[in-house]
Amino acid sequence: MSKKNTQRKVIKKVRKVHIWPTLVLCLVIAVVVDGFFAFLLSAFTTYVVNSKMADEYEAVEYMAKIYDKNSSAEDDIFALLDEEGRTYFIKDNHGKIIYQFGKNTIGTTSGKIEIIGGQKSIGSGERTAIVYLDNTTEGLFVPNEDGELFINPGSIYNFAQNIQDNVSQQIDTKKASVDLPVWIAINVKGGTQTFYGKAVYNFSPSDVFFMASMVIAAVVLLGCVIIIIVINLITTFVRHKKMTKIFFMDPITKGHNWMWFTYHGENILKKRKYASKELAVLDLVFVKYRNYCVCHSVAEGEEMLYKVDKLLKENLKKDEIACHYASANFSLILIPESKEELEGRINDLLKKLESIESDHKFTFHVGVYLVQPEKGENGKIRKRKDIDIEREYNNACTARTTLDDCDDSGVAFFDEDLVEEQKWIDIVLDKYEDAIKNEEFLVYYQPKYDPKTRKLKGAEALIRWDSPEFGFKSPGEFIPILERNGLIPKIDKYMIRHVARDQKAWLDAGLDCVPASVNVSRAHFMEKDLANQIKNMVDAEGCPHEYLEIELTESAFFDDKKAMIDTIYQLKDMGFKVSMDDFGSGYSSLNSLKDMPLDVLKLDAEFFSGDLNKNSRGEIVVSEALKIAKNLEMLTVAEGVEAKAQVDFLAKNGCDMIQGFYFAKPMPKEEYATKMDDLATPEDESIAVVPDEEDEAPAGENDTIG
Ligand code: C2E
Ligand code: MG
Ligand code: MG
Repeated sequence: MSKKNTQRKVIKKVRKVHIWPTLVLCLVIAVVVDGFFAFLLSAFTTYVVNSKMADEYEAVEYMAKIYDKNSSAEDDIFALLDEEGRTYFIKDNHGKIIYQFGKNTIGTTSGKIEIIGGQKSIGSGERTAIVYLDNTTEGLFVPNEDGELFINPGSIYNFAQNIQDNVSQQIDTKKASVDLPVWIAINVKGGTQTFYGKAVYNFSPSDVFFMASMVIAAVVLLGCVIIIIVINLITTFVRHKKMTKIFFMDPITKGHNWMWFTYHGENILKKRKYASKELAVLDLVFVKYRNYCVCHSVAEGEEMLYKVDKLLKENLKKDEIACHYASANFSLILIPESKEELEGRINDLLKKLESIESDHKFTFHVGVYLVQPEKGENGKIRKRKDIDIEREYNNACTARTTLDDCDDSGVAFFDEDLVEEQKWIDIVLDKYEDAIKNEEFLVYYQPKYDPKTRKLKGAEALIRWDSPEFGFKSPGEFIPILERNGLIPKIDKYMIRHVARDQKAWLDAGLDCVPASVNVSRAHFMEKDLANQIKNMVDAEGCPHEYLEIELTESAFFDDKKAMIDTIYQLKDMGFKVSMDDFGSGYSSLNSLKDMPLDVLKLDAEFFSGDLNKNSRGEIVVSEALKIAKNLEMLTVAEGVEAKAQVDFLAKNGCDMIQGFYFAKPMPKEEYATKMDDLATPEDESIAVVPDEEDEAPAGENDTIG
């Protein structure tokens, strides 16, 4: 399963309210309460029937038996029964009343669950209860104004087991204790007649009290259950809300986190109303965040991130979102009107962010990826389906990395070339080790000539990658990549070994060898035992130390100065030469010269580019730099020299060596070996001509640089 799907599932799980436990609890409570309620009712009914109705039933049964057994004249038996004072009547098989004593309140539709005789008298002060039994149903029904109410089926089964028909009776509601009439029917005369006797169930105040207590208990119980359920539901929802908030919260800014961003971001990008719009996914980074934390404190740094997050949110429009991604990175989705409007907005935002604190000026880099509208098969714009927010954000990050070397705030938009660049970076990182193993890296040598004598005085070893797969690559295409990824020491060692090997071979061949310089990157120079490592490698090749020079770029001098000075001393003690490369391209070069015991100063090619006129400031700077180097007893090399006038100027001002296309471009080692005994000749006569003895301008006349 893809990471994206897993993430979506997790989000879904968190967002879902888990009310199942609450529902199960409700169900359990409901069952318990119901059971308890049923138990109370059945206990009450049993009590009613057993305690109150047994005597009444016996009395009616007794009358029925007397009638049944007596075969004497009917009048006598009826007189006898009348004396009992109980209302009764006798029906034959056809329902015809044979005899009746007292008022017959029984209905004609007996056997149905409804008030029969009693119904007619409702309104005139009477209510009716029916004890109803037939083959399938039995129960006690207490009627209300509208009809009858079923209380508890089955509860009087024992009491009325041998009653074959329905019994009903009226009650008088005016009494303090309610007499509930119950008609009891008993078969007599071999089943040809039925004896109906009116029994009275006395519903006393204690019964009412008992009943009321039961109802109150039930209501209270039910109320408690409802309150428990409601409280449980509310706490479940509140807890769930809190949990969701924490899940989507960034602990540093207290704003939203990446999880939240991906979920909402995808929804925004997929919205139908934005289908035809370009939407912008941004990566914004607080550039010197780590520095800020080191100089102040992590807590203050995090306070800054909080402020940044707040400011970003304040500047969002409807449907736009922002979150703290990680470390110093923030992710945003903006809905721009146009690319110009977007650039304007981002620049405004950067201005606000830069001055987020009055006594600091901060730097922010923004990478933007514009998510294009999606088209269906018919060419029509459709709702975006193919959205992968991580991919879009990664593109924005890629665009942002192009600003890595930029010291000011800035914005970079992603374009497809960046994909190619990114692919190339991957290739370099992937293949460089194999390239080392397969000796695909070649050493090219660029000669350094004495401008006066035109004699070869030295050379710089420069790497080239002759890849069978990717072609011939110059160092600019892979050295910065390896440097950025901390992989350059391997290359430097490779070069040192090969240069030492070449020098040794040329010496053995009796060639007039001169020192060759090798570039050592600053990352490598920070290694503590660098001097020893170099010595061991060179010794392993059997090359005398004076034939190897170590070039350090000027920018390296800003790192750990003490460690660097130590290494330089060690190298010099071992007999190697050490030079400062690209002097003049950085900032405090002069300061570095003061402390570093260097042998060679290489003036940066920048001095010799462009159109510099006679007596220009460039000339003054170069000649003064040469003078300083002389006074510090350093040799000087001018790099990037392409014109005769420059050569002349440098010769006149005492520059020791010229390394430039004017004399020679970097060349394969075989070609370089042929140059060792020769005098210098210009590479390309069309760009420069070596002056003849008489042609040469007198000092100071033709000393223009550039
Ligand atoms: P660098 O060390 O300053 O090397 C001088 C660069 O200037 C070389 O470029 C060289 O070809 C070029 N150059 C010399 N004269 C002229 C000229 O008259 N005109 C112009 N336009 N260019 C000139 P290359 O070989 O492309 O190397 C570029 C950079 O790559 C080097 O600058 C160095 O920093 C780095 N590099 C090259 N080889 C290695 C290596 O083996 N190790 C390390 N760490 N870096 C290397
Ligand atoms: Mg160099
Ligand atoms: Mg250089």
